[in-house]
Amino acid sequence: MTGSLFIVTAASGTGKTSLVKQLLATTNDLTVSISHTTRTPRPGEIDGQHYHFTDTESFTNGINAGLFLEHAEVFGNYYGTSEKSVRTQLAAGIDVILEIDWQGATQIREIFADAIMIFILPPSIATLRQRLSTRAQDSVEVIERRLAGAVTEMAQYVNADYVVINDNFDVALAELKAIIVADRQTLSRQQQRYHRTISNLLNKQVEE
Ligand code: 5GP
Repeated sequence: MTGSLFIVTAASGTGKTSLVKQLLATTNDLTVSISHTTRTPRPGEIDGQHYHFTDTESFTNGINAGLFLEHAEVFGNYYGTSEKSVRTQLAAGIDVILEIDWQGATQIREIFADAIMIFILPPSIATLRQRLSTRAQDSVEVIERRLAGAVTEMAQYVNADYVVINDNFDVALAELKAIIVADRQTLSRQQQRYHRTISNLLNKQVEE
C-alpha cells in the first residue's frame, strides 16, 4: 500500500513544527521529511534530526544532481526536500508530511497531484509576532523580516485542501489528526489496505 503525501504550510512562527512533532508522537505510520537547508542551525537544532544542514555549494550540487523533489529560497536561505527518502517512505506505506513553504508546495503538487495540502494559520498577527519573539532564537531583524514575509505566505492559504487555525494547541492538533485519520478511511486507501478482507466479504455475500 502506498502512503499519502501531506504538505503542511504555515507562516514562520505559526507553531507548525510543534504541532507536527506532537502529531508524529501520537500517530502510527506517519513521518516527516527532514529537509536540507543552508540556514545556520538555531540553538538546540541537531543536524540530521531537525534539518540536514549544508552549505550553498553542496546544495547547488544537489539541485544539479536532481536530488530534490522541490527546493526554494526562503528568507535568503535555500531549503529542499530529498526525493529518495520521500519516495522510499511512501513506497513502504508510510504517510509523509512535508513541512515546506508555499513555493515548495506548488512544485510538489505538480509532481504529486494527490498530495493533500494543509495550511495552518495563526489566530492574529499579534499572536504571530509574540510567538516569533518568544522563540527568541532569531535576531530582531530576522523576526521583522519573517513577519513581513508572513502575510505573503498566508495569502497562499486559498490553495490548501484544509485550513487549521492554531489558536489553542490541543484543538489544532486534534484537527490535524482528524485530517490524517479521514484520509486513511477514503475508499481508495481502504481498498488497498483491506483488499483481501473486502474480497472475502463480497464473495461470501454472493455465496450466501
Ligand atoms: P525555518 O528556517 O523557520 O525552519 O523555516 C523557514 C521556512 O522554510 C518555513 O516556511 C518552512 O516551512 C520552510 N521550509 C523548511 N523546509 C523546507 C523545504 O524543504 N522546502 C521548502 N520549499 N521550504 C521549506
